[in-house]
Amino acid sequence: MSPSDRHQSIAQDRQQREAFWMPFTANRQFKDDPRLLVAAEGVHYTTADGRQILDGQAGLWCVNAGHGRRRIVEAVQRQLSELDFAPTFNMGHPLPFELANRLVEITPGDLNYAFFTNSGSESVDTALKIAIGYHRARGEGSRQRLIGREKGYHGVNFGGASVGGIVGNRKQFGTLLPGVDHLPHTLNITANAFTRGLPAEGGAELAEALERLVGLHDASTIAAVIVEPVAGSAGVVLPPKGYLKRLREICDRHGILLIFDEVITGFGRLGTPFAADYFDVLPDIMTTAKGLTNGNIPMGAVFVRPHIYEAFMQGPEQFIELAHGYTYSGHPVAAAAALATLDIYAEEGLLTRGAALAPHLEEAVHGLRDLPNVIDVRNIGLVAGIELAPRPGEPGKRGFEIHRRCFEQGALVRYTGDIIALSPPLIINPTQIGELIDIVAEAIRETA
Ligand code: PMP
Repeated sequence: MSPSDRHQSIAQDRQQREAFWMPFTANRQFKDDPRLLVAAEGVHYTTADGRQILDGQAGLWCVNAGHGRRRIVEAVQRQLSELDFAPTFNMGHPLPFELANRLVEITPGDLNYAFFTNSGSESVDTALKIAIGYHRARGEGSRQRLIGREKGYHGVNFGGASVGGIVGNRKQFGTLLPGVDHLPHTLNITANAFTRGLPAEGGAELAEALERLVGLHDASTIAAVIVEPVAGSAGVVLPPKGYLKRLREICDRHGILLIFDEVITGFGRLGTPFAADYFDVLPDIMTTAKGLTNGNIPMGAVFVRPHIYEAFMQGPEQFIELAHGYTYSGHPVAAAAALATLDIYAEEGLLTRGAALAPHLEEAVHGLRDLPNVIDVRNIGLVAGIELAPRPGEPGKRGFEIHRRCFEQGALVRYTGDIIALSPPLIINPTQIGELIDIVAEAIRETA
């Protein structure tokens, strides 16, 4: 059987879809009614039944340079045949060194040290452990508490799930980590519905909730605050103007580390290389993944500033070696994919291209505001969220139906409950943005 015959048989035979336990998916429902992609090129997928689908979500917020990039393909092939694997525990090979050098040239401020992981979830748990270790190395071992936010998404590992604040992602798993609090989220549709770009003044004071937690627990017990500068998974939640600056100030006042989870916002999504650039706020630690390799090979990276790195290097003997790492930290094939991706980003100006495209997306997406059931439209850089009123008694149903209809009509869009999130590849053009929004508009009308 050729690969394409095997794909067809999976597309056609329900039984062949049984064994794969799919993540974040209602398995029975999907397996009865599958949506299968078999190829991709540029901003389009090809489905198992041969249709072209406009990729409105860059894979899963990751394929920033578009699909089928030959340069990455060739770099991966070359690397696999030259050096397929080599350990990085007390051993090394040149690629992660080269990649770290290249990356710290583009990271904000002095986020000058890179630790490699295999995913966003691993980056988050790595960052949280580094934060706690940092305080311990400096003799402040009582700082162990972690603070996230309501509606925050920081992956699915124990640390990330604990600081995460999406209710549905937690309730199957009990108490998770102790010593975690959540700041309020910043979504305020009543005040800010249909705002273009960042919500206007007002809302920055929500950062003051951190002072309340400091009062409650004492700063000497708090290690770090982690936030997504722009929350993606919860359905595109934007920070009010001045909010992140305020968080930074409060963290500074109390010796609390600030972690930006830039797994989605990193590598050009907001029209700047990183969200820290966009908001002009420098975290102590920054997590990334996804766009690092254009989503082509799994890889993540955590960046830290010199004070963090030095606390370990100069710390007591038992901290000089970070007791953390993955078999595949700095994997040669992933590193080769990342280096090729960075070449593409640089040559095509993709890390800032979103800034030029943002007005097109903003204009097009806000054109949806008068459609039935649309209660909010939000946008920043090359990200947009369209929130719909839930169908009475059936929350999330409308979002799913719109996603489903868009797929039938030729576009892949992400839904979170009744919110449609758009995050197309950064190579998309204004005409294609128009096509995407037209398909979404039609789907919204049809599901009214
Ligand atoms: N953090 C954020 C902000 C994310 O959006 C995601 C994934 N959407 C993650 C962490 C987890 O990344 P991964 O799925 O690669 O583990």
